[in-house]
Amino acid sequence: MKVLIVEDEISLANEVRNYLEKEGFACDEAYTGKVASEKLFSNDYDLLLLDLGLPDYEGLELLKESIANKTDTAVIILSARSALEDRIKGLNLGADDYLPKPFSLLELKSRIMAVMRRKHGIKANIITINNLDVDLDKRLVTSHGNVVSLTRKEYDILSFLVLNKNRVVTRLQISEHIWGDIIEENYNSNYIDVHIKNLRKKLSDFIDGEFLETVRGIGFKFVEIA
Ligand code: CA
Repeated sequence: MKVLIVEDEISLANEVRNYLEKEGFACDEAYTGKVASEKLFSNDYDLLLLDLGLPDYEGLELLKESIANKTDTAVIILSARSALEDRIKGLNLGADDYLPKPFSLLELKSRIMAVMRRKHGIKANIITINNLDVDLDKRLVTSHGNVVSLTRKEYDILSFLVLNKNRVVTRLQISEHIWGDIIEENYNSNYIDVHIKNLRKKLSDFIDGEFLETVRGIGFKFVEIA
């Protein structure tokens, strides 16, 4: 899952980034509204963490830009506890949640998980599909209690496919989701194919039938087998 952290307090931005990366998120940071606006324009993010109080930019304007261009991006507003009016405006404009500063990183993570669950229409942090239990919180996949041993990248790809089950996910989306914005030139290389091949092999021990379709020239689809 790819997150853009927009926060002009650099130490706070770094702290959030370090924490979220340890928890398995791919993060970009922007310390100014201008950089944030450029990044929002050129990348697909799953989540925007948005400080409304930026030196060079009206935070609510960024929110409008984000929502106008990328309706898939969830938004959590980070704001001073006193900035009630801005928070209300933000929620009215379509932000998914807000977190008053100072916040605990644990609370931030649970808010993120809740927002992503709502966005994908799931109720729990564990998605059950095709005999697999994908625990989004623990980043753990089991099947009838047996751990399915996956590498970090394999897990990232699988969870992304499962969250988008029965829909075609393009190579570019996978690449952006997993590697962030660093690898654009490599997205059509065979990195993804190698991971998909390994995933298919590992999961076929637990799932019968064609659960992971290759859509030629486009991408992949994780199919829920009835
Ligand atoms: Ca600020």
